[in-house]
Amino acid sequence: MTKLAVSIRVKGLVQGVGFRPYVYRQALAAGVKGWVNNDNRGVNILAEGEPEAIALFKAALIQELPPAAHIAELQEECHAVQNFSSFTIIPSRSQSDEITEVSPDIAVCEACLRDMKTQPHRIGYPFINCTNCGPRFTIIRALPYDRHQTTMDVFVMCETCRTEYESVTDRRFHAQPVACNHCGPIYQIHGHEVASSDIAKVVSAWLDEGKIIALKGLGGFHLLCDATNEQAVATLRQRKNREGKPMAVMMASLTEVEKAFELSDAERVALTSWRRPIVLIQNKLALAPSVSNGMHTTGIVLPYMPFHYQLFEHLNTAAIVLTSGNISDEPVVTGNDVASHDLASIADVVVSYNRAIHNRADDSVVMVVAGRERMIRRSRGYVPASLNVALRTEGIFAAGAELVNTFAIGKGSKVLLSQHIGDLKNAETLAFYEESFQRFSSLFRFEPQLAVCDLHPDYLSTTFAGSLGCRLETVQHHHAHLAACMAEHGLDEKVIGIAFDGTGLGTDNTIWGGEFMVCDLSGFERKFHLDPVPLPGGDKVTEEPWRTAVSYLYQYFGRAVFDQPPAFLQGIAVEKQAMILQAIDKKINCPLSSGAGRLFDAVAALTGICTHSSFHAEAPMRLEAAIQHGCRSKYLVETDGSRIVLMKLFYLILKDLRLGVDKGIIAAKFHNTLLSVILSLAKRLRADTGIQKVVLSGGTFQNRYLLLNSLTMLQEQGFAVYAHEKVPSNDGGIALGQMAIAAKRRTEFGA
Ligand code: ZN
Ligand code: ZN
Ligand code: FE
Repeated sequence: MTKLAVSIRVKGLVQGVGFRPYVYRQALAAGVKGWVNNDNRGVNILAEGEPEAIALFKAALIQELPPAAHIAELQEECHAVQNFSSFTIIPSRSQSDEITEVSPDIAVCEACLRDMKTQPHRIGYPFINCTNCGPRFTIIRALPYDRHQTTMDVFVMCETCRTEYESVTDRRFHAQPVACNHCGPIYQIHGHEVASSDIAKVVSAWLDEGKIIALKGLGGFHLLCDATNEQAVATLRQRKNREGKPMAVMMASLTEVEKAFELSDAERVALTSWRRPIVLIQNKLALAPSVSNGMHTTGIVLPYMPFHYQLFEHLNTAAIVLTSGNISDEPVVTGNDVASHDLASIADVVVSYNRAIHNRADDSVVMVVAGRERMIRRSRGYVPASLNVALRTEGIFAAGAELVNTFAIGKGSKVLLSQHIGDLKNAETLAFYEESFQRFSSLFRFEPQLAVCDLHPDYLSTTFAGSLGCRLETVQHHHAHLAACMAEHGLDEKVIGIAFDGTGLGTDNTIWGGEFMVCDLSGFERKFHLDPVPLPGGDKVTEEPWRTAVSYLYQYFGRAVFDQPPAFLQGIAVEKQAMILQAIDKKINCPLSSGAGRLFDAVAALTGICTHSSFHAEAPMRLEAAIQHGCRSKYLVETDGSRIVLMKLFYLILKDLRLGVDKGIIAAKFHNTLLSVILSLAKRLRADTGIQKVVLSGGTFQNRYLLLNSLTMLQEQGFAVYAHEKVPSNDGGIALGQMAIAAKRRTEFGA
């Protein structure tokens, strides 16, 4: 039979994920000869053999990919037969400016967990890894991805590890962080002399005793304690000065999670994914009450480092709190010295290891709504995987927003979104932003030609973008939100955009955030918006939602409504209330806002569900948690021109409160009202424009009830509805939207 030869070029996430050994094994199994190598653009294969063997090989190639590998593009060409006698892996060399993708960090694999029990030089070795698993982004300094370009460079491989590293048939062939008990990094307990092999045992005993431990993770330190020990959790909260915010929990295994929670299939997939995000899951059984603190979901994550598994082997508890090791709003601590200094006041013991974290990465957070994984915080396990947009993004820097900042850089038609950075108003976080930009620029050989930022002149990301010295574009905040969702779904056309969000500067200099737009990637028309209300005290209202409630009541009903003060004002000094009304009258520090987040705040306060907020978005979260499910009724709103007037809504809520209607019912009716506004205005815009596609974005769509019901309702009415999956609907997705808009404008108007 005549032989065939084909050359195959594979692009995508195919380096640092065990792709070449995988190709090698498939070639051997199919009886194919030739070679595989990689260069800066991806992996190249030359396959030679009988036609059936080639067919078998090609089919196998895409069927059983290594977990983290992803094929974005596969090109194939016929080639002259050269009669190779074997299949070989050829060393890589070539370099160009076209970058390869850098793999995100990968949770330890099953095979490594087994090796940890059986391989003599890796018995109990807590840094075990292979080409299919282990640290990647967090240890990489430069490309190409080779050991000397990572923070593993200080560890010299022993003979055994070197042999595995060089053997093409070994699972550790070219596994850059390969190491063992003889040659790799080790854990240490600060201030305690404990043998390496006993550390997991000692630490787990302390956790079971109720101690708080600071433990170095992949992308930064965590704070740990027994999640079933109320006193331990309360102590951690108190020492961390973190009153209300729910904490994530690591559980021993999927079996343990299933004992405590009801999981959907998609949640099971998300939990066990090699990316190992924290998954927000509906509570069934309570852990210690302080863990989720009245919220109806808990963030659950399964072990992803070998040491986590070792802890659970010894622990009595099946659930430990795993929260970021940081001081209030500062970035999570990565350095051992910083940890022993800063975290010593929170933790009883600091446990670290002697390999440096180069790129900080928090745990990622996702939720599953309508059967799809939805990103809430995109970091470890996802970053720096690229997002593809059908636009030329080369040379564009997108600065992001301010509060839940991420930035993005454009390469070719790809977008590389940074890890979650945080609130830039914090000096340490701003430094992290600048440092990450430098690191992304050098890692991906990026030179900014065009910078794009938020319309808000005072955002520190705006200032930073301006300092780059290249051409600067500005984008309205909610247009960016919607464009992010459009870019994710490859939409480049006019759509109906609904942005429900906390804040964001509008083109009229007021604060927006309850917006119905008709938009495409180049521009938008603001069609409807929530009725603006003064925010007495400006930013202060996010901590004191009662102020916004007062403002709405005053706007619609005047002073009379306070003659018999509604119940939610009981705990608030009369002088303070009077001061607020006066500020509104005199327009002192009372910016106007149409933000949906503020409306949620007001209703949460008015119902007494949350008058004071101890963390970002607490009031809306508590209002959602209060919903009595199954209630179908709603309140009324009217439109006046482009304004969505909320007078009847507030009138009817006050009436329900006077009648003593259950708060759960009021919360449900309020949500249902917004859903009916969404549906009726989408229909009106469809009738006016003929547009069928609706895009949902903005932080408020992290509300499951609102998102799920918006999707269902709009779909039932024949709309094609698009919501976020890969990037957050909160400000963490803004950079992608800015990027898409800037890229589109550049193609339209020229660079
Ligand atoms: Zn492995
Ligand atoms: Zn070794
Ligand atoms: Fe926003």
